Amino acid sequence: MSERTIEALLQEGRRFPPPEGFRQRANVTDARVYEDAERDPEGFWARAAADLHWFRRWDQVLEWNLPYAKWFVGGKTNLSYNCLDQHLAARRTKRAIVWQGEPGDERVLTYEDLHREVGRFANVLKSLGVRRGDRVALYLPMIPELPIAMLACARIGAPHTVVFGGFSAEALRDRINDAKAKVLVTADGGWRRGNVVPLKRNADEAMQGTPSIEHAVVVRRVGEQAAVNWQPGRDVWWHTAMAQAPERCDPEEMDSEDLLYTLYTSGTTGKPKGVMHTTGGYMVGTYLTTKWVFDLKEDDVYWCTADIGWVTGHSYIVYGPLANGATTVMYEGTPDFPDKDRFWAIVEQYRVTILYTAPTAIRTFMKWGPSYPEKHDLSSLRLLGTVGEPINPEAWVWYHTHIGGGRCPVVDTWWQTETGMILITPLPGVTTLKPGSATRPFPGIGAEIVNDKGQPVGPNEGGYLVLTRPWPAMLRGIYGDPERYQQQYWSRFPGVYFTGDGAKRDEDGYFWLLGRVDDVINVAGHRIGTYEVESALVDHPAVAEAAVIGVTDEVKGQAIAAFVTLKEGHTSVAQMVEALKEHVVKKIGALARPEQILFTAELPKTRSGKIMRRLLRDIAEGRILGDTTTLADPAVVQVLKERYEETAGA
Ligand code: ATP
Ligand code: MG
Repeated sequence: MSERTIEALLQEGRRFPPPEGFRQRANVTDARVYEDAERDPEGFWARAAADLHWFRRWDQVLEWNLPYAKWFVGGKTNLSYNCLDQHLAARRTKRAIVWQGEPGDERVLTYEDLHREVGRFANVLKSLGVRRGDRVALYLPMIPELPIAMLACARIGAPHTVVFGGFSAEALRDRINDAKAKVLVTADGGWRRGNVVPLKRNADEAMQGTPSIEHAVVVRRVGEQAAVNWQPGRDVWWHTAMAQAPERCDPEEMDSEDLLYTLYTSGTTGKPKGVMHTTGGYMVGTYLTTKWVFDLKEDDVYWCTADIGWVTGHSYIVYGPLANGATTVMYEGTPDFPDKDRFWAIVEQYRVTILYTAPTAIRTFMKWGPSYPEKHDLSSLRLLGTVGEPINPEAWVWYHTHIGGGRCPVVDTWWQTETGMILITPLPGVTTLKPGSATRPFPGIGAEIVNDKGQPVGPNEGGYLVLTRPWPAMLRGIYGDPERYQQQYWSRFPGVYFTGDGAKRDEDGYFWLLGRVDDVINVAGHRIGTYEVESALVDHPAVAEAAVIGVTDEVKGQAIAAFVTLKEGHTSVAQMVEALKEHVVKKIGALARPEQILFTAELPKTRSGKIMRRLLRDIAEGRILGDTTTLADPAVVQVLKERYEETAGA
C-alpha cells in the first residue's frame, strides 16, 4: 500500500511459548523443519507423500507452468484408499467417525465400518450409472452419510461437489448445473434448532431445472416429520439401495491430477468461485498439515466444528484426519441447542482433545459469557484451533483462558478454499504464539507482503498478502472459467498468487492478517485495516463483536462506521457510544476514531459465519445490496438497513 499505514498501533505484547509438557511430546519440536523445507521444498513434500500409499510412484514432484501446477506427476493413488484401506491392518476397530445428531442420537463408525459403508455406497453410485469422471452433487446435513458419500465418490473417481445444507433450492440448482452432476445425494431433511430443514423439498425444486440429474439418492434422516415427494425412477432411498449393494469395491487408480472435487468459496467478497481440487497434491497437503498443525496423535479425539459444506470440513473433518487414521467428531446441529453449552457438553462427553472452530463462534461464546463452558469438564482439551477470519486478540485470549484453561496452545490457521490446506499457522510444539497473529508460513510455503508495485514491504507496513511459489493443495482453476482464474489470482502481481487479503509482518517475522483488501478504509490518506479497529472495539469489556467499514466523507475521503454487538448484560446507552470511540482512540489513535457507531444484536454473515462488510457498505451508501446468495439470515440485513436509515436521518 502506497500511503503511510497505521503501524502496529494496536499493541499486542502478550506471548505464549509452547508449554513444556506439550513441547516434549509434540510431533514437531525442531524449528529446523523450516530451513529444511526452504532449502528443498519439493524434497520436503516428496517426503510427506512417501508416508502415503501410491499404486504408482510419481515421476516428478512438481511441474510448474505459471499459473498451472501439477504435483506428483505420473503418480497413481486413491484418496479413499488412503483414508480407509490403508488403516485396516492397524486400526480396524479404531473409531473413525464419532457422530452426534442434534436431537442427541449418536453413531460411531470404526475404520472397518466406514470402509464397508463407503464400499457399498460406491457400488450404489455405480449401479446408478456413475462412472469415473462423472460429477455427483451432495446436499446433506452433517450426518455420517456425507463423508461416506464423499469417500465413495473419491473411491470410484467421480468428483463431488458438496452444497452446504443451508443453501436454497436456487443455489443448489446453480451448483448442480455448473457441475453438470449426474446424481444428487440428499436427505428427507436435517435438524436445526429443533426444526426440520426440508432438504428434499428444496432438492425437488432445484431438480425442476437440472437436466443433467438422472437420480437422487435420499437419506432418511428425519422420518415422518418431513413429507417427501417421490419421483419413481429418479428417486432412490439410501437405505434400500445400500441393503442391496455389495460391500467390496476396488478403488480406482487415480492420476495425481485427476479432479477430486469442486467447491464454492464463501461469497464474502462477491459471487462465489467454483474451486477445483485434484487428488495427489491435495492429499499430501491436507495429510501433513493435519498431522503437524494439530499435532495429531494416535489416541486423540479431534473435533472440527465446521460444516462439511465448506472447505474446512472437506480438508479437516474428512480427508486430512482420516488420511492420518484419526478419530474425527461430527456434530449435526447448532451450538445453542438445546442450550448454549452444547459444544462443551460434547467435548466433555467424548473427551475431545483437539478443538478447531471459528472466530465467529468464539465471539458468540464470549457474548454468552463463561458460565456455559464452566458447567463442563474441559480438561481433556490439549490444543485449540481457529480459522475463517482474523481472530481479535481479545477473542484469542478468551478462547485460551475459558476453553483452553490456560494450558492449550491456540493455532490460528490462515488459508482459503483456493489453497485447499492451511498455509500460515503456528506449529504448536515450536512456535511462540502472539494472540491475533497466524504467525508463520507452514514449512515449504512461500508467502510475502507487497505494496502496490509488488515490492516487499518493511516490518509493520501493511500490504497485500501474496504466495510466491506453488503448494501441493493449491486450486487447479475455477470450474468452467479459466479466464476468472487468471484474472482473480494471477493478474494483480506478475508471477505470484494474489490472496485478496491484507497483512503485515512484524519485526519478528510474524504475519498479521488485516482483512480483505477490498475492506481497507482510507481516512485522510491513511490506510486503516478493518481488523485493527474491530479488535480495538472488541478489546472493550462490553463488546462481543464489531464490523467496521468506510463511509464517504466530504472532508476525509472516508470516515469509519462501526456496527457493534454487545455482550449479554450490557445495554446500548448513549454514553457507550462515546466510551467506545474513546477506547478506539486510546488503542490506535485519533485517526481511527469511528464517526458513527450503531449497536446491533446481529451482524450480517455468510453461511460459514464471516462478516459481510460489503453489505454493510451497501447499506451505508444507500446502494442496492450486492450478491446475497450466501447470506445466512436476510432479516439481519433488513433490520440493519432500516435502523441505519433511521439513525442517519435523525
Ligand atoms: P469469497 O472468496 O467468495 O469472497 P471467502 O474468501 O470468505 O469468500 P473462503 O475461502 O471460505 O471464502 O475464506 C478464505 C478467507 O477467509 C481468506 O482469504 C481470509 O480472508 C479469511 N481467513 C481464513 N482464515 C483466516 C485466518 N486465520 N485469519 C485471517 N483471515 C482468515
Ligand atoms: Mg476468498
